[in-house]
Amino acid sequence: MLENIRIVLVNTSHPGNIGAAARAMKNMGLTKLVLVDPNDHPSFEAYSRAAGADDVLGDAVVVKTLAEAVVGCTWVMGTSARERTVQWPMMQPRECAAETMKQAAQAEAAIVFGRERTGLTNEELEQCQALVNIPTNPDFSSLNVASAVQVLSYELRLAALDLSVSTEAESEKIASKHLNDIPATADQVDGMYQHLFKMLEDVEFTGSSNPEIIKRRLKGLFNRAHLTKREVSILRGIYSAAQGRKSARK
Ligand code: SAH
Repeated sequence: MLENIRIVLVNTSHPGNIGAAARAMKNMGLTKLVLVDPNDHPSFEAYSRAAGADDVLGDAVVVKTLAEAVVGCTWVMGTSARERTVQWPMMQPRECAAETMKQAAQAEAAIVFGRERTGLTNEELEQCQALVNIPTNPDFSSLNVASAVQVLSYELRLAALDLSVSTEAESEKIASKHLNDIPATADQVDGMYQHLFKMLEDVEFTGSSNPEIIKRRLKGLFNRAHLTKREVSILRGIYSAAQGRKSARK
């Protein structure tokens, strides 16, 4: 199931960190590395820090945006060096690993790491269902990004070893689930958001002087719900109906 988990590094500045992350991943049995707009890749320095994890590094997929990096994922976790005050549920590494492994038993999952200096933007965090914070010294909380990859990869490995015992029962349970009851992928949820925002425009919904805040809150709400494919299609049916009535009234 570790093969269903992507490690996503966003806009990494130092190629050495990309190499060190690849090594940390391979040590723990993870293989899928996705690089969002890396500053310098491929590079000699990354290969030298990968110290033999050349396959993970060489197979790394490079994309332009986080949205592209998480296409097909039904579970996306962000990482943060700080406790955020906003609406994302915060998890501890152990809980995050257990939940991610559970999701990875059914589909693809991703853990997203931010820029060395500034972490992840709010817009990127909005694409995550939950955030994980590694409890560090509050006076010196920020880990090197590859060290953070190491800690979470280790937790994923522990969770994988733990789960391998109960995997058979779990796969049977999943096989008996209807296809529509499995979680929606990040791109399906994003399509639903675009439809929702268009529908709100069409029905001339004005709930606030700042529509961006409403959008952020709605995303937070749906991200917490972890929608299934069926629920996404019900919501889109409702939006289409609302749009239809509005245009019929005009
Ligand atoms: N000032 C930035 C620090 C970025 S550290 C911030 O507050 O977000 C670079 C990346 O390493 C982070 O985006 C995150 O992916 C990871 N990281 C560092 N320390 C972490 C911690 N304590 N818990 C979880 N991830 C951490």
